[in-house]
Amino acid sequence: MSKHYKHRGYSASFSVSPKEGLTLEILALAEKAGAKAGYAVAKEELYRNISSNQFLTEQETDELLAAAHRAGAAAALLAARKVLEKTLRTSFSHQHRSTAPDLLGSTDLETSAATHEEPLAKYSPPLGLLDTPRATVDQHVLTITRVERLNNQLVRLIAGAPNLDGYRSNSALDEYVKVFVADPSLGLTPPYDVRALRHRLPREQVPRSKSYTVRWVDPLLNELAIDFVVHGEPGTVGYWASLAQPGDPLVISSARSKASLSLTADYYVLAADEAGLPAISKVLEALPSDAEGTALLEVADDHATFDVKHPEGFVIRWLSRDAVPAGKSNVLPLALQSLPLPAGQVGVIAHAERSTIKAINRITEYWHLNKRSSHISSYWTLREGRLRR
Ligand SMILES: Cc1cc2nc3c(=O)[nH]c(=O)nc-3n(C[C@H](O)[C@H](O)[C@H](O)COP(=O)(O)OP(=O)(O)OC[C@H]3O[C@@H](n4cnc5c(N)ncnc54)[C@H](O)[C@@H]3O)c2cc1C
Repeated sequence: MSKHYKHRGYSASFSVSPKEGLTLEILALAEKAGAKAGYAVAKEELYRNISSNQFLTEQETDELLAAAHRAGAAAALLAARKVLEKTLRTSFSHQHRSTAPDLLGSTDLETSAATHEEPLAKYSPPLGLLDTPRATVDQHVLTITRVERLNNQLVRLIAGAPNLDGYRSNSALDEYVKVFVADPSLGLTPPYDVRALRHRLPREQVPRSKSYTVRWVDPLLNELAIDFVVHGEPGTVGYWASLAQPGDPLVISSARSKASLSLTADYYVLAADEAGLPAISKVLEALPSDAEGTALLEVADDHATFDVKHPEGFVIRWLSRDAVPAGKSNVLPLALQSLPLPAGQVGVIAHAERSTIKAINRITEYWHLNKRSSHISSYWTLREGRLRR
């Protein structure tokens, strides 16, 4: 009796011989190891690049890392196939193949048996379909309890769950999460297995995830708050936030952080547009009460200002874009340029649209920045007429 068994990575209809099962296992392991290696190398390079130059947005970084993950997996699969092919060529070419699974979907076993020149070519399932162990889905599903309008562009969603559905604050000043949003017409139930859905759905239907600052966490009430910029394109997280209602789910990743800031500068210059406002508001709340500095806060118009807590010695300047669309105004760099350069070590914390951040980097390049108290990074990129995945 033959010892055929089901390979884990395929549907129940596939039954493979032990040798073929082993081949698949090896390929799966190679794919996983390659993906990991590609990701690790790219991450190291990217973060070196990002911290010195700020060339890339968070989204671009994620996309590049995902590409490196896939490229690493593809390269490793190729290399593993070559090695296996060399090792197993003889045994494969003499083997009777009537029970072999047709992993490319062909039903013609004669054709398959006749093509022994490239025996492992048949082991080419689409990348990622091999049954590598799936990471557990890193998501927490909360329910929106309150919706508060801060101004016409910013909405605060407060959400909770028993034990915050396992979400743990990392207490970092720049604590942020990925917010996951799915097209409601697909009827998906969170948490979303995004990795699996990537194989099943067209790219534009895969739930999107974008970075958002955790404005506050209340562990006693099991609630947290996130402030969202609302903007008009259906399909974006910003649009979803504009329609969110109490009772809707808020799906978030676990807590993340990029900068470990020590707030020890002599003087602070803070700058943000609406996307950076939640992060900058947190910095203003965390600074010592005798801290001195200036906060430049870009908003749509003069009616868009709201109360932000800040140390007494701080100057808060709201800068109106005056009908110029978000991402196209230069009010932040202009205001920054006109500041008298303060004495002592300056901490600059700035988060805004990418080209604004580039301009801010150029201006502050020659300031004597206190590096440990400074963090300048782009939070989004203006791309007219295009959704960002
Ligand atoms: C660490 C970090 C923390 C962040 N914290 C917050 C936060 O607390 N609140 C917040 O609102 N954003 C925050 N952002 C920015 C947010 O992740 C981006 O704005 C994101 O692109 C929004 O995704 P989306 O799906 O709404 O739009 P996308 O699909 O990314 O973009 C679609 C189009 O919408 C436009 N767009 C994108 N973002 C904005 C915007 N902010 N204003 C106007 N137009 C925009 C662009 O033209 C873009 O082409 C943060 C980013 C990072 C990296």
